[in-house]
Amino acid sequence: MRALVVGGGAFGVASAVELRRRGHEVVLVEAGPLPHPDAASTDLSKLVRCDYGQDALYTEWMQVALARWREWNARWSGEGGRALFHETGILLLSSEPMAPGGFEYDSHALLSGMGHALERVDSAWLARSCPAFKEGRFVDGYRNPIGGWAESGAVVAAEARRARRMGVTIEEGFGVDAFVERGGRVVGVRSTAGRALEADVVVVAAGAWITTLLPELSDRLRSNGHPVFVFRPVDVTPFVAPTFLPWAADIGRTGWYGFSANADGLVKVSNHGVGVAQAPEAPRVVGATEEARFRAFLRHSIPGLADAPVAFSRLCFYSDTFDGDFLVARHPDREGVVVATGDSGHAFKFTPVIGDLVADVVEGRPHPFAERFRWREFGTARSEQARCGV
Ligand SMILES: Cc1cc2nc3c(=O)[nH]c(=O)nc-3n(C[C@H](O)[C@H](O)[C@H](O)COP(=O)(O)OP(=O)(O)OC[C@H]3O[C@@H](n4cnc5c(N)ncnc54)[C@H](O)[C@@H]3O)c2cc1C
Repeated sequence: MRALVVGGGAFGVASAVELRRRGHEVVLVEAGPLPHPDAASTDLSKLVRCDYGQDALYTEWMQVALARWREWNARWSGEGGRALFHETGILLLSSEPMAPGGFEYDSHALLSGMGHALERVDSAWLARSCPAFKEGRFVDGYRNPIGGWAESGAVVAAEARRARRMGVTIEEGFGVDAFVERGGRVVGVRSTAGRALEADVVVVAAGAWITTLLPELSDRLRSNGHPVFVFRPVDVTPFVAPTFLPWAADIGRTGWYGFSANADGLVKVSNHGVGVAQAPEAPRVVGATEEARFRAFLRHSIPGLADAPVAFSRLCFYSDTFDGDFLVARHPDREGVVVATGDSGHAFKFTPVIGDLVADVVEGRPHPFAERFRWREFGTARSEQARCGV
């Protein structure tokens, strides 16, 4: 089979690699360079957590993904690269005692029931072990030694190199403008420059841009921009792992989370909240109001970062489904099209396993979790439990 993948983010690259591994001829087209600086996947870092509240499916799928992340680390190192997944563990903090229905409590209960050894923490533990957090601000929570963060942009770049080595043809600067249709089915795509490429199946992995190609999804998919601030503290020592771990603080109630310093002394903070409803191609501006909001949170929670210089900020786009679950399915009304999108702000951690799901959908094979990510009409709005305000 000849497969054409549109979009070179985490979904597209992982799909291309897996389809090629299964013996298909694969062409991946990407509107910009790969990685594209505006892609959601092209970032310094993403949390890789298996903490998913009460959600058994994501928690279970993450056990598979974590094993793969470790394999990928070994492979990258073996190929002369370096480990891009940093399994530092994660701190899940709460400013109130954890209680049923709360993200921290429910994650802790589910993971403990599965046999994970989690370390319960309190304000005394934080003051002793992670003094960068303001004393007394967080009173409960736990440290999960499993999980950490991945250098997301570097992961996409590494996997794109792997795709090329495996024989995937990658065309950069190929922005898809329209589908090529024949006999009532989609048989390829046409670029903005008018070039056509044909294939047996077109996998649309266009992230937040998906509705420009498939406007019929606009009722159930929205693009929302999320500000990210990357600080360069003058003294980075308090923010280095293992003293300062990637963290989520009241995340289901306030959205705040962040990372330990990377090798360049950069410390990233973001918010898993509602975001700014905006098209991804509109000018991306992170204003002074946002910076003030971040600094106000930091002053009350991680005071040593509150006045740190900003190295850079960016607006990064979620492709939000109405229900917070990804969308990986055959298009029922456009024969020949498979969609692989709807990351809803939490899919990067599944990069090592998303290609399996996409390839199974393409080949019409069963996948244990495909039903959750099926084609669905707009319905009751909800989100994953870590998401705030949606
Ligand atoms: C601020 C922020 C923080 C996040 N934090 C986390 C986290 O901590 N953990 C986690 O697991 N996930 C996180 N996510 C979610 C994660 O980034 C996404 O799940 C993932 O990157 C989505 O990958 P994608 O391939 O669907 O989209 P993208 O990475 O956006 O890739 C889509 C690609 O398609 C290309 N494209 C679009 N239209 C066309 C076209 N017409 N023709 C050709 N190419 C096209 C684009 O140029 C782009 O390169 C976060 C997201 C954001 C925005």
